[in-house]
Amino acid sequence: MTDATPGIDAIPAAERARAAELRALLTSASYEYYVLDRPTLSDVEYDTRFRELQALEMRWPALRTDDSPTLRIGAPVQSGFAKHTHLVPMLSLGNAFSADELIEWEAKLVRMAGRDVTDSGYAVELKIDGAAVALTYEHGVLVTGATRGDGTTGENITANIRTVRDVPLRLTGDAPARLEIRGEVYLPFDKFEQMNEARVRSGEPVFANPRNAAAGALRQLDPAITAQRPLRFFGYTAVLPDGRPPCDTQWALLEQLAAWGVPVAPHHARCASIAEVNAWAHEVEHTVRAALNFAIDGGVVKVDRVAVQQDLGVVGGREPRWAVARKFAADIAETRLLDIKVNTGRTGVLTPYAVLDPVLVGGTTVTFATLHNADLIASKDLRIGDVVQIKRAGDVIPQVIGPVPDKRDGTQQPWAAPVQCPSCSTPVAREEDGVGLYCPNVACPGRQLEGLVHFAARDCMDIDGLSYQRIQQLLDAGLVHDAADLYTLTVEQVVRLERFADKSAENLVAAIAASKVQPLSRLLFALGIRHVGGQAAQLLARRFGTLDALAAATEDEIGEVRGIGPVIAQSVRAFFDDPTSQTLVARLRESGLCLEEPEAQQASGTLTGAVVVITGTLPTLSRQEATALVERAGGRVTGSVSRKTTFVVAGAEAGSKLDKAQELDVEVIDEDELRRRVGS
Ligand code: NAD
Repeated sequence: MTDATPGIDAIPAAERARAAELRALLTSASYEYYVLDRPTLSDVEYDTRFRELQALEMRWPALRTDDSPTLRIGAPVQSGFAKHTHLVPMLSLGNAFSADELIEWEAKLVRMAGRDVTDSGYAVELKIDGAAVALTYEHGVLVTGATRGDGTTGENITANIRTVRDVPLRLTGDAPARLEIRGEVYLPFDKFEQMNEARVRSGEPVFANPRNAAAGALRQLDPAITAQRPLRFFGYTAVLPDGRPPCDTQWALLEQLAAWGVPVAPHHARCASIAEVNAWAHEVEHTVRAALNFAIDGGVVKVDRVAVQQDLGVVGGREPRWAVARKFAADIAETRLLDIKVNTGRTGVLTPYAVLDPVLVGGTTVTFATLHNADLIASKDLRIGDVVQIKRAGDVIPQVIGPVPDKRDGTQQPWAAPVQCPSCSTPVAREEDGVGLYCPNVACPGRQLEGLVHFAARDCMDIDGLSYQRIQQLLDAGLVHDAADLYTLTVEQVVRLERFADKSAENLVAAIAASKVQPLSRLLFALGIRHVGGQAAQLLARRFGTLDALAAATEDEIGEVRGIGPVIAQSVRAFFDDPTSQTLVARLRESGLCLEEPEAQQASGTLTGAVVVITGTLPTLSRQEATALVERAGGRVTGSVSRKTTFVVAGAEAGSKLDKAQELDVEVIDEDELRRRVGS
């Protein structure tokens, strides 16, 4: 120990104790995050404590123990998986939390290199908040998939990786004899929401965020479970056996990945200066991020030229010097839950929502947040008056993560689910799944507004100019009560309303009339029959052709349509049996609406309703191309074989799915036969 590095005894006791405390906290947080996939700290809290420990260790190097979290990457391999040694270590990244810190980072690069390296420029990419994986390809064929693990050794999760739809099983074009492609497996927001809703229904604990759900899915010992989670992949780098990337610049590497058929995250850019990088980061944080359907926790800035990267090397065995994560402010905030109210949706579904003390999250003020359903409120133990954590995930509606129980003062009140519809006082009913509540009154006024907004929407009857406000105006004036009333509106009635002139009234009535020609599939969706979404409406319209044929079908006949389950069948039958719906349909018919599906659409889709599984390496088609062929023909591709599978398309090295198909006696075909069936 030299004078410059004081021994442990020279360090004030308070700082020693704090370092020990931080080490213990970060170590247990990492275990919960990486191994259990159940974090107890927010990332921002973790990063703040991590920096605090780094600063202490920088000041007092003797504090840095060999097991310090500041020296470690990820978590060691768990039992149950074979080990996989990475070609070169998979590193972590240093962080920059502001534009100024990025400028400092660049200055440090120049100091380290001992020369001006800024002319290399930078490649900037979204920092996907998923789970890092390394995929090994031999002669262009995927042979191994592994987690990052502790950076040197990961878990061999090849069977699970094969279930990730957009991981290419074979690279397009020429590929080196051996190559490791690295990237991030993630779960899109919409799929994450659906998955959590399903977990609530089956009584399982919900995932805290898409990252943990994705990481957990990848480390399932049974690949069939992984296959049920709709994981996706973005690649961001590749290494050859000599440890170098296969291109001279990061930019060229991204282009090469795309050429091989590897999905590359959108919004990457090439910046000539750190000022341009800062402008890009600002744009991503404040504009791009909100519209993404996947989580990012920042951007990654990489020195573009590989030769310069190699000169700069790695710091402390943990982080490359030539890349840095520009982390964004978390879009999580704390506020008070003032009340829980209930909204009646267009199909009568009652959705509780949180009324919040207004709070700024991710650049916008949030006053309301969805609470999904009563059981979710109970499972999160939310009480009125609680301090709660709020999150804005992408562009979707703000969500309540959960209460902060430590901040309770005894005044908090539990919430009771409604027993009557808040709009019409009809006793509420439970959905078939036992979780959701709905108002069974078809004429409930609470449903009208939402129902008409849906009816007029672009993917339904597409009525130009019939906005939310205008529907509200028509309802308030007593001119319409249901969709059929729209078609009896006259210009004289509309022009009398506020903010309407002759021209706008004429346009609105004409737009409503123009919607009469919409095909049956759109009308069925527009009618807001419970459980009938756009896809189910298409399947029904294609199968039955006319509204009359569908209305005359039995529940069993409806349920026999591929892709339509018993819940939808029962709901469709109940709709046509209801006298209110019968009157509505009769009036729509009188107004001259098209109650048929054009024959061209009925005929299209030789695989309409088919459920297809693709396995193994097909001779010419990539997984994505084969999926696109099936989908274009009206079929659906799923990840695992079950009794519902119509047929399996098997290629070379097809594994357990082929066995399963044979066991269940599901038809197995090859690529040629698939092409024949889709007429390609
Ligand atoms: P990191 O997530 O900060 O950065 C490194 C990782 O970024 C890489 O391994 C890679 O997987 C990923 N990445 C995403 N897009 C990339 C791209 N375009 N290019 C390169 N890499 C890209 O570092 P880490 O070591 O994985 O994790 C540390 C972070 O994890 C912490 O900063 C913290 O936010 C979080 N964490 C949180 C807790 C908690 O309790 N909440 C615990 C441990 C870690």
